[in-house]
Amino acid sequence: MTDPIDAPVSRLVIDLDALTRNWQALARMARPAECAGIVKADAYGLGAAQVAQSLLDAGCRRFFVANPDGAAALRPVLGDAATIYVLNGLIAEAGDLSAFDLVPVLNDLGQIVRWAGEARRLERRLGAVVHIDTGMSRLGLPPEETARLAASPELLAPLDLHFVMSHLSCAGEPEQAENHRQLALFRDAMRSFPGTRASLANSSGIFLGKAWHHDLVRPGYAVYGGNPTPSGANPMEPVIRLKAQIVQVREVPAGTRVGYSGTYTTERATRLATLPVGYADGYPRALGNLAHAWIGDSAVPVAGHVSMDLMTLDIGDLPEDRAHVGTWVDLIRGRTMLDDLATRAGTIGYELLTSLGARYARHWLGGTRG
Ligand SMILES: *Cc1c(COP(=O)(O)O)cnc(C)c1O
Repeated sequence: MTDPIDAPVSRLVIDLDALTRNWQALARMARPAECAGIVKADAYGLGAAQVAQSLLDAGCRRFFVANPDGAAALRPVLGDAATIYVLNGLIAEAGDLSAFDLVPVLNDLGQIVRWAGEARRLERRLGAVVHIDTGMSRLGLPPEETARLAASPELLAPLDLHFVMSHLSCAGEPEQAENHRQLALFRDAMRSFPGTRASLANSSGIFLGKAWHHDLVRPGYAVYGGNPTPSGANPMEPVIRLKAQIVQVREVPAGTRVGYSGTYTTERATRLATLPVGYADGYPRALGNLAHAWIGDSAVPVAGHVSMDLMTLDIGDLPEDRAHVGTWVDLIRGRTMLDDLATRAGTIGYELLTSLGARYARHWLGGTRG
């Protein structure tokens, strides 16, 4: 018999002060370039409103979201104090953006023409960013469209061109020649936009060096505590802590199979603890038998496959009084775990991070949160 424990039994804790310090550290590195806030995907799952408020308080005045929906959630927080850019551009009706004073990142000539048409219709200059592709082959003007735009600058006349930007494809791998190739292409293209501000670097791009900073840097992942220099130590402060309470503890003899397919068999008499967290909550199934969690300062291994809503830990090395029903266990904490766990799971910290926010009760520490 156990007593019921109070909900919630799992929680994503988000340290807004650490997040703010990360942004400030990146902004200092990038100076005199300006530093934007990248809050797409609900601020990488950590809460766009809370994150944007913190960054606004820290002095951030330019925010990037993926879609107009993301922008709608931000406007009440930011008011007129900051500019909101929509990365996916003019996929929506032009009127949906102009009505909310959103600035699209224009990703092809057709979008430039449409947005300029909207400016003429409204009889006012509309803000815009032009995105040129230098190696992602995803969004942005391909080289031939960039050349056509350079030859027809009147296309941009009705617009207030805030920046010309591009995006790096492998900034986390500084040894890749591609970073230099993209930089050269970008600089070359910028010669067609004299006097226009330029933006190239994401988080990792900031660490490539001054040459990549231009006028505006666009860090996301590093602000959220992820490692922007994957081949070295993480220079950022941890922002998230994922924790859950034990819902059952049992004593088992040697030779006990644990979980689906019995991929973990106890080698000795031990104790097992079950957590109410599984792959449906964004904890990767691939981490079965491959990860540790923490109870205080003790690492405890994940035993067997991760189930949909549950996972099991072998806590046999802990003194009995250290782990019981209701004890909090840290699944992700500190500077390295987000990236380490993602690597072990065969993915990247970005995917792990963005899979958590919608699933857990989020608890924000610090900040002002409006
Ligand atoms: C997501 C994104 C960023 C931020 O990238 P991080 O690697 O998270 O720093 C910057 N620019 C563009 C165009 C993006 O899509």
